[in-house]
Amino acid sequence: MSASNFAVFGHPVAHSLSPRIHAAFARQLGIAMQYTAIDATPEAFVARLDEFNAAGGKGANITLPHKHSVLAQCAEISDFARRAGAVNTLTRRLDNHWRGDNTDGAGLVRDISKRLGMDLRERRGLLLGAGGAGHAVAFALLDAGVAQLTIVNRTPARAIALADAIGEPDRVHTRDWNDLGRFGNFDLIVNATAAGHSRESLHLPFSLIAPRALCYDLSYGLAASAFVNWARAARIGYAQDGLGMLIEQAAESFAIWHGKRPNTDSVYAELRAELPLDASD
Ligand code: NAP
Repeated sequence: MSASNFAVFGHPVAHSLSPRIHAAFARQLGIAMQYTAIDATPEAFVARLDEFNAAGGKGANITLPHKHSVLAQCAEISDFARRAGAVNTLTRRLDNHWRGDNTDGAGLVRDISKRLGMDLRERRGLLLGAGGAGHAVAFALLDAGVAQLTIVNRTPARAIALADAIGEPDRVHTRDWNDLGRFGNFDLIVNATAAGHSRESLHLPFSLIAPRALCYDLSYGLAASAFVNWARAARIGYAQDGLGMLIEQAAESFAIWHGKRPNTDSVYAELRAELPLDASD
């Protein structure tokens, strides 16, 4: 593929680590490419994407707030992205249409199972949040063999809609956030809310955490600190943020575009040194 042809679209997007991650992958595999961040408001998104295509754009990552609306721009959508209702990876096909994939779920599962070395099968999971990422994560965890998944969302109707879309009433349940203290415990707790970005506390009881549970926040850096610190304070489980997921979902996108999956260890080590897990105020 020619240079100057990959990008991440979002709003805002200046903070995105994706250009850095993809540049590191390209250096590692000796692939000539440029990857830029394109800020596009919801109103301007389609026009920006059309400009990118006209300029030879070959692939793009899509982040907030466009992950759902971009479905309308895809003539071809992967089964997983369709189920999740969200696309984070666009690939220009030879007959000049966009294919949409979603690598968020695979990124999370790979981070947990490969980097952390934890078996997801048979875990009893609690998913906090039912937004775009929550959808991808729910399907991916169930595909990976999680035994039960309880979904809780600030706006209960979204949790119910997600459970309905999954359609596995024996494995997937919804509960009211206000009843969190009466749920018993879980050996996998995934925070897929955006609460950490506005520094809002989720007021979670320690009773949710089973011994040796994995408590995983999809966000990273300061946005993850409240949840990570809560999990650590319980002293019976493991706490992790979403930096590894971010890098693994990028590697999945890279593999879709270039046919080669980069080794993620060095990129993870470099970024982890800048964003330590115990980051706090
Ligand atoms: P989204 O579609 O906007 O959904 C936001 C979710 O957070 C909704 O469930 C929302 O509940 C909930 N929420 C927001 N503020 C809350 C609060 N104060 N208390 C409780 N719930 C709250 O966003 P998203 O795309 O799903 O992203 C969610 C998180 O995942 C973000 O932190 C994002 O950075 C992270 N993420 C990480 C990766 C990665 O690669 N590491 C990839 C994707 C996303 P309501 O439905 O009630 O509004």
